Amino acid sequence: MSEPRAFKNPYPDYTGPGCAQDFFDMQGNLTQHFASCISSKISELLAVMENGLKNADPRDCTGYTGWAGIALLYLHLHSIFGDFSFLQKALDYVSHSLRSLTQRWVTFLCGDAGPLAVAAVVYHRLQKPHEAEECVNRLLHFHQSVVQGNGRLPDELLYGRVGYLYSLIFINHTCFAFDSLFDLIMRLFQICDAVLDSGQNLSQKNKIQEQTPLMYEWYQEEYVGAAHGLAGIYYYLMQPGFVVGEDRVYHLVKPSVNYMCQLRFPSGNYPPWVGDSRDLLVHWCHGSPGVIYMLIQAFKVFGVRQYLEDALHCGEVIWQRGLLKKGYGLCHGAAGNAYGFLALYKITQDPKHLYRACMFADWCMNYGKHGCRTPDTPLSLFEGMAGTIYFLADLLQPTRAKFPAFEV
Ligand SMILES: [Zn+2]
Repeated sequence: MSEPRAFKNPYPDYTGPGCAQDFFDMQGNLTQHFASCISSKISELLAVMENGLKNADPRDCTGYTGWAGIALLYLHLHSIFGDFSFLQKALDYVSHSLRSLTQRWVTFLCGDAGPLAVAAVVYHRLQKPHEAEECVNRLLHFHQSVVQGNGRLPDELLYGRVGYLYSLIFINHTCFAFDSLFDLIMRLFQICDAVLDSGQNLSQKNKIQEQTPLMYEWYQEEYVGAAHGLAGIYYYLMQPGFVVGEDRVYHLVKPSVNYMCQLRFPSGNYPPWVGDSRDLLVHWCHGSPGVIYMLIQAFKVFGVRQYLEDALHCGEVIWQRGLLKKGYGLCHGAAGNAYGFLALYKITQDPKHLYRACMFADWCMNYGKHGCRTPDTPLSLFEGMAGTIYFLADLLQPTRAKFPAFEV
């Protein structure tokens, strides 16, 4: 028996409004006291992060572990607190990122689209339209290589097609980038077409069309979770208006989602890849904390209650096993897992889920006191402290919170 990967959850579960009154009111607004605890913790952690970044890898441009991720955090803080100095910081860090692009990958989190998209929005907010436009043009330059079906580009979020697609959504939400809405829609259609083609090809090649019309792999493994796998891809294929033809969503995506749903373990968690029978990982990247977004989207689109039930089971798994010994980050840490509760709160409005997110926030606010292992990039957005700060800031406006670089 291997050692447990999570701490035993020390917090009492939600029993009714009384147990939450120190944290939020019944409209879901955080109490002044709790909000100011969060804000002062954010300031404290930011100071630690800034100091530690002096020793970070100067050449890592990425959103996942590098400078674009730190810039994205500051952009987020600027959105929430409105403090101009945060926007200035975002500019400094994203400029740093642009000087060392990968020249290889095209996604938001691990490639060059992320730094360019973040820079475009920073320049837009600074009212520098020419600089913003140049970043957008460089970003759109990748489009053709993404939609071409040369078979070498994967489809998943970290290195593949949907990871490029997210960068288009990011610039569209926050600025002006496209000549017209039509241009954006056409680009989303083209990418989703390429993703559907790729999934049908692999399903046919593996002779599993009867079970699942779509299948995807990354490094020869059929990953299931949000970062490298099916759940992350299907989440985008179910967004309204991303795929041409409602019938294709019903005939290709829905049965593929159903195939994935039946991979569920008795615990309510999901395997890291198809065929793995070890119920070990409860991370955003592998397991229920990432699959939950696909399930909620399936419930929204198809209206089938079972998807929501499965999502609620994910919530139970996260509550039991989500305080990870890996730390407090987004990809495989307590902060990333807590976003699953916020997703459930947004769809159900049940205060239990907001309460659970607040308890995980309390855990995160005791950063470093539980004997967790130190991640490889301890200050970064996806593995480290920047991600924890991002989550704490999002909790101040829980109904608007979105898992960064992923949720639409
Ligand atoms: Zn991870």
